[in-house]
Amino acid sequence: MPHLSEELIAPCGMNCGTCIAFFGHTMSGGKRKKRCQGCRAENKSCAFLKKKCKKLDKNNINYCYECESFPCEHLKILDEHYRKRYNISLIDNLISIKEKGMDFFLRSQEDEWKCPECGEIMCCHNYTCFNCGFKRPKN
Ligand code: SF4
Ligand code: SF4
Ligand SMILES: [Zn+2]
Repeated sequence: MPHLSEELIAPCGMNCGTCIAFFGHTMSGGKRKKRCQGCRAENKSCAFLKKKCKKLDKNNINYCYECESFPCEHLKILDEHYRKRYNISLIDNLISIKEKGMDFFLRSQEDEWKCPECGEIMCCHNYTCFNCGFKRPKN
């Protein structure tokens, strides 16, 4: 599956196509036994939200912005973690999808994560292109 597609945008706003597990690697620099196929394809709780949210666990919600509790405390905690560690706001991603649409969001993800050296999509967790090895500084 290409790294930029609607199926890879998780209900929490994470772009699984930029996730280190989707590239088949671990945060410590190793290789995973099995590459993660993304939140929707795997249909299991990723690290955080599904475990804590019945609506997501039962697939009642496609994106968290559809939820009356949006943004709930669990999503806020995850968002804060992502903002601090990776300079990514999942809540902003969700608001962008809601207000500007998926095509716009995918194009903005391409602008943000396209490797300047080889044009492949880079990893948002270590700012590295697994295709050519290019590393970019954190935003
Ligand atoms: S580990 Fe989670 S965020 Fe990463 S690709 Fe898998 S489901 Fe998506
Ligand atoms: S915003 Fe709603 S659907 Fe998303 S994790 Fe929170 S309670 Fe669940
Ligand atoms: Zn590259």
